[in-house]
Parts: sequence; structure tokens; C-alpha cells
Amino acid sequence: MKNFILKTKFNFYSKKGAKLQTVDLKKAEKYFKLLDETLIELLKYHNTIKLKCKNQIYDLPVSFKYEYFRPFFKMATHRKIKEVNADDTNAVDFDIPLNSEVRSVSDGIITAINKNNTCGENDPSLAGKDNYIYIYDKNQNKIYCYRHVKPLQEINLNSQVKKNQVLGHVDNTGYSITPHLHFVIYKIKNNGCFRLKSEKIKLFFK
Ligand SMILES: [Zn+2]
Repeated sequence: MKNFILKTKFNFYSKKGAKLQTVDLKKAEKYFKLLDETLIELLKYHNTIKLKCKNQIYDLPVSFKYEYFRPFFKMATHRKIKEVNADDTNAVDFDIPLNSEVRSVSDGIITAINKNNTCGENDPSLAGKDNYIYIYDKNQNKIYCYRHVKPLQEINLNSQVKKNQVLGHVDNTGYSITPHLHFVIYKIKNNGCFRLKSEKIKLFFK
């Protein structure tokens, strides 16, 4: 029961944090603190945290064992991106410390990458001007997206990557309020026109 209440609280604080982050960072910080405290409590009942997407279980792309781990679902800034024909409404933002390792959740091939952006701040006009990595996984027919990340030098377009391989480090480029990883699992829709549709992701305490 305690465990169930903690999970409910965790989701509630995450929702509040997500809502307030772009509007009033000071107010959001109150919920960040509550989120941190609740996570410490939750980890007395669970050994690990995974991601669940439909029936598929994934390892997290970032560790929850850093100084803090704040997953934000349903961010106000996550929307359909017309220019690239992608729907990002189900993206997750993992707020974790700068330079935390980002790992691939799957095997796959790098289909898009950018390493050259350096500036980032709370400015919507910087949207899309971040560094990113997109990985196509042919077994699942999915694309995984990692944004605001600083890719490793040896990661390049068409590089093959393995599950759990380090891809880069958490950064703060583009439209970014605090260092975080923007992560999306895309279903590929191809009915005449190629389109990426974000899938719902949940945290799964194990
Ligand atoms: Zn995001």
C-alpha cells in the first residue's frame, strides 16, 4: 500500500514539475525536491526502474542513480513538429545532472545526428537548434530519439550501436531550461507519407 501511494505521489509531483517548469521555475523547484524525496523512499521497495512502452520493457537511457533523476511526462513544450512530420506529444524529459551518461535502449543504426550546436537557453526560438541522435531499430521497426545530448566523437551517421552502449552525455543545447535528455520512442507510420508518432511511455518500478 505504502508503495502504491509513493508511486502515485511520484507521478503527481512529476506532472506538477512538468507543468510548472516552463512557466515558473522557482515554483517547479518545490516539486523537484518532493520528487527527489519520494524517489529515495520508493527505492526502499524497488531495485530498479525500467521503461514500459506497449508490452515492451526497456532499460532507462539514463541512470536513476545520479544526484537526482526527474522524469517529466507531458511537457507543455511537447507537440507535433510539422517541419519534420513528427508527433512529440509523448516524449519524456529526464532532468538529470549535466554530463550524465546517455545509453542506447536498443541495437540500431544512427539515422540522424548533430554535434555542432553550442548554445542553449530558455528560448523557444532555439527549438531544433540542439544536438541530437536518432537511432533506427529494425527489429522493433522503431526510431529512438535522444535530444539535448552531446554525442561521443566516435558516434556518426550510419554508425551501428548496441543496446546499453554509451551514446553521449546530457547537455543543455537548444531550447532547454535545465540540462536534460529529451527521449522519444517513435512508431513509424508509412501510409503514403513517412511520419513519426511518439508512443506512450511509462516508468516501471521493479
Ligand atoms: Zn523535451
